[in-house]
Amino acid sequence: MATSRTSVSSRASRAEKKHPAYVFVVGGVISGVGKGITASSIAKIIQSRGFTVTAMKIDPYVNVDAGTMNPTEHGEVFVLDDGYETDQDLGNYERFLNITIPSGNYMTTGRVYQAVIDRERNLGYKGQCVQVVPHIPLEVVHRIKKAGKDADADVVVIEIGGTVGEYENILFLEAARMLKSEMPEKVAVVMVSYVPMPPKVGEMKTKPTQHASRLLNSAGLQADVIIARSELPLDKKRKDKIATFCNIASERVISAPDADSIYDIPVNFEKDNLGDTMLKLLSLPPRERDMAHWRRFAAHTKSVTEPAKIAVVGKYFDTGDFVLSDAYISVIEAIKHAAYHLDKKPELTWFSAERFEDGKELAKLGVYDGIIVPGGFGERGIEGKLNVIRYAREKKIPYFGLCYGMQLLTIEYARHVAGLKGANTAEIDAKAPHVVIDIMEDQRKKLEHGDYGGSMRLGAYPAVLKKGTIARDAYKKEDIRERHRHRYEVNPEYITRLTDAGLVFSGTSPDGRLMEIAELSREKHPFFLGTQFHPEFLSRPLHPHPLFVAFVKASTERKKKQKKDKGKKR
Ligand code: GLN
Repeated sequence: MATSRTSVSSRASRAEKKHPAYVFVVGGVISGVGKGITASSIAKIIQSRGFTVTAMKIDPYVNVDAGTMNPTEHGEVFVLDDGYETDQDLGNYERFLNITIPSGNYMTTGRVYQAVIDRERNLGYKGQCVQVVPHIPLEVVHRIKKAGKDADADVVVIEIGGTVGEYENILFLEAARMLKSEMPEKVAVVMVSYVPMPPKVGEMKTKPTQHASRLLNSAGLQADVIIARSELPLDKKRKDKIATFCNIASERVISAPDADSIYDIPVNFEKDNLGDTMLKLLSLPPRERDMAHWRRFAAHTKSVTEPAKIAVVGKYFDTGDFVLSDAYISVIEAIKHAAYHLDKKPELTWFSAERFEDGKELAKLGVYDGIIVPGGFGERGIEGKLNVIRYAREKKIPYFGLCYGMQLLTIEYARHVAGLKGANTAEIDAKAPHVVIDIMEDQRKKLEHGDYGGSMRLGAYPAVLKKGTIARDAYKKEDIRERHRHRYEVNPEYITRLTDAGLVFSGTSPDGRLMEIAELSREKHPFFLGTQFHPEFLSRPLHPHPLFVAFVKASTERKKKQKKDKGKKR
């Protein structure tokens, strides 16, 4: 029986693969209500039915990639294995689907236009008049199909940035319309809309969703599914109203109230049978769902009680009067994955590094189990971060430095332990008495030509780990591959002086030239470690990153020890 079922389904899946199915996820009313998580969750539930799924994002910006955008405004720059600098949603897709996504799965207006213009310059259009319509949406369609083919996908989920009715994304909606008219039975459109409940009105209002639906209609598209984001679950009356005025069956109006955890969203969607609905819309055969691991993980995140209190000291938090942590989303998720794995409840607190510049508030950090300084650029907040790192080292609070956080760890150690007064990074002061962090040679050349975009050392590179170190014990292997995004590195001229002073470079590039991990031995400190790469990009909910696990473990063990010591004193 089992054999015949397998062969039927693999035959079916071969036939399906001639044309993958496409799901477009578009936004209505306002952005920032979780379109990326919705796209990831839809992809997840289709994947959990045994289909190969990939996900892509289209951003309406003219920027060619996300690399040059300010993280405070735009959120984290997520780096793919192949080095492409993308929107943070690609991180959500990788984490939810547990797949590695290539650069072809991200496009911006700038990248699409650049490709079309380059092709025109190379006579690729054979003398045609190249026009915004149809050539731009055709290029988008071409890229979507290629991404599906490259991933050998049954289903491609495509998130279109922004909201319907914006000037900026109209050409992307046009691409969706073209694809839908080419293969109506293989394309579905999901609109993520917001259903507000104004406090003075006291009931949910569906009118903004109705307007968004009409705007979508005016782009030649009809939503097949409406995800109604709201504070509370949608009642039957509102569901019916949206169904009537937006031309869809009420079972295709999915209630998506605020959730405690993003990991609940796929589980919640399945409560409304969204998986079956999607398969039907995409003319895919019904298959059984296998989401047991995910479901268990989502439930576990709510059962943990013992806190792991982690302070994150960065600088991309403040926007106007508001504080957002979007710039560090992968770091946050990586801490959470590790904490859940260790049966701990992650409690994160953000600090702007500048407040530690005069050193007066450092003692505030004493209550945290561990401290992280994530990646960053430029001068603002640097002395504050250095003070924090020194505090963590001297007070033996577990410290984890990511990229800039590793470079600053090295500077702090150089200044205060290795006796290299005035040590600094060339990024801030190239004439410092000891430039312990220097620009990489190939990067120097690029900057001389004003070549900033996409020019850092980007993407996954191998490294080897030294025996007996914290890093090696965490990974439990010698060879690793991690994603990078940096221009500067530990200056080779200072390696001997730093190691003589006790700093251990436990990970290096295979040729031994680039210092990839710096740490202090366990005898000196419970966990004082920094990575030149960004481990956070590879952490997945069900596969937490070994270094984050080691860091959170060291953090909570320190607390346990402190409690014990206190008990003894009494
Ligand atoms: N600014 C540092 C560099 O370019 C660190 C970069 C980062 O933290 N991603 O090397």
